[in-house]
Amino acid sequence: MKDSVRALAADFKAFLASREEDDLTPAACSQAAAPASAPQAEPSVQETPQPLSSATHDAPAQDHLTISFLRQDKHPAQTPQPHMQTQEPSAPLSEQPSPQEAPVTPQQKQALLDQIAQEINACRRCPLGQTRLHAVPGEGNPAAELMFIGEGPGFDEDHQGRPFIGRAGQLLDKMIAAMGLKREQVFIANIAKCHPMVNPENPEARGNDRAPNAGEIAVCRKYIERQIAAISPKYVVALGGVAAKALISDTKSLGALRGKFHLLHLDTVELKHPVKILATYHPAALLRNPAWKKDAWADLQMVMAEMGLKRPQA
Ligand code: SF4
Repeated sequence: MKDSVRALAADFKAFLASREEDDLTPAACSQAAAPASAPQAEPSVQETPQPLSSATHDAPAQDHLTISFLRQDKHPAQTPQPHMQTQEPSAPLSEQPSPQEAPVTPQQKQALLDQIAQEINACRRCPLGQTRLHAVPGEGNPAAELMFIGEGPGFDEDHQGRPFIGRAGQLLDKMIAAMGLKREQVFIANIAKCHPMVNPENPEARGNDRAPNAGEIAVCRKYIERQIAAISPKYVVALGGVAAKALISDTKSLGALRGKFHLLHLDTVELKHPVKILATYHPAALLRNPAWKKDAWADLQMVMAEMGLKRPQA
């Protein structure tokens, strides 16, 4: 067993070795890299964007990510106004299927995911929706047993409307492959569906990424929660501290959260069954800090063991 684990670790190191010399600057990083600033009370989307920091994916957080309201926005797209504030809700959230109504077949799940994606693409409920180029609902297997969830789209994702397609996304693909899976077998998404930018007036600038703040996450999280309910995975891997804290509902640092399974915590939907969630490093953080890859690999091996996944053949 130890030999097998050592062999897997060796495979993973070799697998990622080509990336270790990467100098991932914020401009090159395709996924937002800074953690949310920390409101202490009711979620707000009025916070000032936080600048990108190389250490922020995993910095201790004080987020209190509860949701107090959600509103179905019926208004058409508006002219980008970076400082536009989210309006008060007019109605409680009611779109989610109850456990009894949850889709069962892959076709039913895909239909519900398509509907959610349509809503996301039309959404302008927070300031991120005013400045994005494309919303990024997520993609993958509608009946996936495993979901990977990050914090928010970056430059490349904003331009193409797909999750994890930049350099960090390429590393995520390799991490998935090292687990013996294909990208098409899992579902990949972010908590925030639109690109959080340091300077929202310049979506064409690289290095303009930041993490969604707690208010933005609170407003947007109904979408990821509905996606999780639709897919009904057995496992979730949270990529980075922002996603981990939001989905585990714990303000501990990523370092304190990773290395063990937690129960997924959702605010707006009821799941058919408990979902295990494991936190690990965001691929962008791994590109900046290659020494963390061995810990990330140890995390992924825990998921593999739970799922009964075998080491891929060479
Ligand atoms: S980030 Fe979420 S809540 Fe904000 S506009 Fe985009 S989809 Fe809507």
